[in-house]
Amino acid sequence: MHITHMPPTKAIPVTEPFLPPFKDYVRRLQGIWERKLLTNDGPLVQELEQKLQTHHGLGRMARCLANGALGLQIAFKALGVAGEVITSPFSYVATASCPLWEGCRLVFADIEPDSLTLDPQAIEAAITPRTEAIVAPHVFGNPCDVEAIAAIAAKRGLAVIYDAAHAFGVNFKGRSILEWGDVSMVSLHATKLFHSVEGGFVVAQTPEVDAKLEWMRRFGHNGPGDFHGVGINAKMSEFHAAMGLCVFDHLDTILSLRRSRSEDYDVGLAGCPGLADGIAWRTGASRNYAYYSVLFESERMLLRAVDRLHRASVFPRRYFHPSLDTVASLGSWGDCPVSQDVSSRVLCLPLSTSMDEDDVARVCELIRG
Ligand SMILES: *Cc1c(COP(=O)(O)O)cnc(C)c1O
Repeated sequence: MHITHMPPTKAIPVTEPFLPPFKDYVRRLQGIWERKLLTNDGPLVQELEQKLQTHHGLGRMARCLANGALGLQIAFKALGVAGEVITSPFSYVATASCPLWEGCRLVFADIEPDSLTLDPQAIEAAITPRTEAIVAPHVFGNPCDVEAIAAIAAKRGLAVIYDAAHAFGVNFKGRSILEWGDVSMVSLHATKLFHSVEGGFVVAQTPEVDAKLEWMRRFGHNGPGDFHGVGINAKMSEFHAAMGLCVFDHLDTILSLRRSRSEDYDVGLAGCPGLADGIAWRTGASRNYAYYSVLFESERMLLRAVDRLHRASVFPRRYFHPSLDTVASLGSWGDCPVSQDVSSRVLCLPLSTSMDEDDVARVCELIRG
């Protein structure tokens, strides 16, 4: 008697890290073994910083760190921001928890319904005499209205910190988006577009702030027995830089695969019933295809689609849900109905270099069902 087995359906996670050929990583490790320099600003970290600076065409050095969250925290310290800050409720929790961890008080301002980034008018309305900074995420790699934010900050004397965790490689009007604001932080976490397992980098606008970022990440050292000031340990290790360099060698492939899969989604979901208009990408901005998000017409429709996808071993994520202004532990001021509405209806679909056209077609078919 013959029993035929159906091939098990391949699970599709929301993302999968890109891994370079194993031998390439080993080759870079070989050098670490020879030098016996495992961390503390070694040659691989320096090489990665140089590559990141050149890639983004930055006037100032990309300062590599152990992770992106520490980059945000050091930014608050370097800019002397410790009071009230205005931020977005539509982001990963780190955008809010990092200033809170630094002792700041959060005020949430609402987002624009089409770009999903902070609404400049809502920022203005949220300013009080105690406001010190605007902490703005470039959501899904879509730049904030950086020109309006710069004008508000200049008029009110506020610092601007961009959470550019999603914005690797994004340009605005032909220049890197990382050149806006006092400090920008990019995450190099394994789940991000470009990664070093764990990691991140910061870019400052002025030489003074850049110098602080540089020494604050290594306990404030100015030589073995001297100190510029108080710092913390946020150094990237050589092992992490080695991964970053290996992934860097494949950047063009990574970007073109993600772009192709995103375009497959655009075609597969065109006119799909139940879906609302997607994100409006900022005019003048380039896209990095870091995420593929869709907005449903209602939360009920979203939940039905998620259930169908889960039963077929497809695992999208509700980025970002819940809206952070509703999270009690963040203890903020501000009620943001636009963010709450968007959060209830937004879904990030699987997107990674491991997916092919057929995987995207399968996801689209399930959503259309
Ligand atoms: C990933 C992420 C962070 C944190 O970055 P890590 O490198 O994981 O510390 C911060 N903000 C946003 C918006 C993120 O997506």
